[in-house]
Amino acid sequence: MRIGLVDVDGHHFPNLALMRLSAWHKHQGDTVEWWNGFTHYDRVYKSKVFTFTPDHDTVIDADEIVTGGTGYKDYRWLPPEVEATAPDYSIYPQYTRAVGFLTRGCPNHCRWCIVPQKEGGIRPAASWDDIVRPDSRELVLMDNNVLACDHGMDQIEQLGYEQLWVDFNQGLDARLITPRVAELLTRLHWIRFVRLSCDTSAMLPVVEQAAAYLREAGVAKSRLWAYVLVEDVEDAHRRVLALEKLGILPFAQPYRDYDGGEPTREQKAFARWVNIRPAHNSCTWEEYVDTGRRGQNGR
Ligand code: SF4
Repeated sequence: MRIGLVDVDGHHFPNLALMRLSAWHKHQGDTVEWWNGFTHYDRVYKSKVFTFTPDHDTVIDADEIVTGGTGYKDYRWLPPEVEATAPDYSIYPQYTRAVGFLTRGCPNHCRWCIVPQKEGGIRPAASWDDIVRPDSRELVLMDNNVLACDHGMDQIEQLGYEQLWVDFNQGLDARLITPRVAELLTRLHWIRFVRLSCDTSAMLPVVEQAAAYLREAGVAKSRLWAYVLVEDVEDAHRRVLALEKLGILPFAQPYRDYDGGEPTREQKAFARWVNIRPAHNSCTWEEYVDTGRRGQNGR
């Protein structure tokens, strides 16, 4: 069979589902390549992770087109035999890190989050040595709440003995960072940041406590980083300032509902002010808003 792949979100981050499908089909003796507009395919897989990415709407010449991913509000899993296949990293040659999940799901039900609906409760998914690549010592782990799972904690403990560099890129739940957990986290080699989440003001004291435990255990202050969910901009602004006072680098994420609702202009502008460091370091949020208004009025 000739298989075409479409990564609808672009090629910014490796799409695990497409890498597994590629590997599985290659094992069957099929030809797999990125879809191009000039070839007839037996089957084309289109995968879309983000709801906000516009769909790929070019006509596709194929006997069968299979779409999947959260971006299509499709929460199905790959067939078990494909899910069990090691990813084919050769389709993303520019990406040199291993990606994967130690756990899937989350025991919590935060109002703004699709994970419990999409993935269900927390459970083991893989061991770190199933994820690691032979050609890389770096692991990007996309777990939603690894600290909430005994298996996740065991894996973290094991990783502390390995010469591997890790990034839990979805953020760690600060509520679960006790002095003991902080000590285990300190033993890891971090690619860059220890990422936390601060989605509501109620989380601020919790994040402050977690940061204190992490620092006491030996995590450098410069590694602390936090997602800031942006719904009410004023509230998010207070959280950003408070996090900075604690020495934690904030990263603003405007809220997007899963029905395709776009963030407001104000939420987007706020995220730009927080995340684009030269803008952030050169003016206050109020000044940034004021400059934007003056720009609109042609002054
Ligand atoms: S803890 Fe994180 S992953 Fe779990 S429901 Fe809340 S936001 Fe989602």
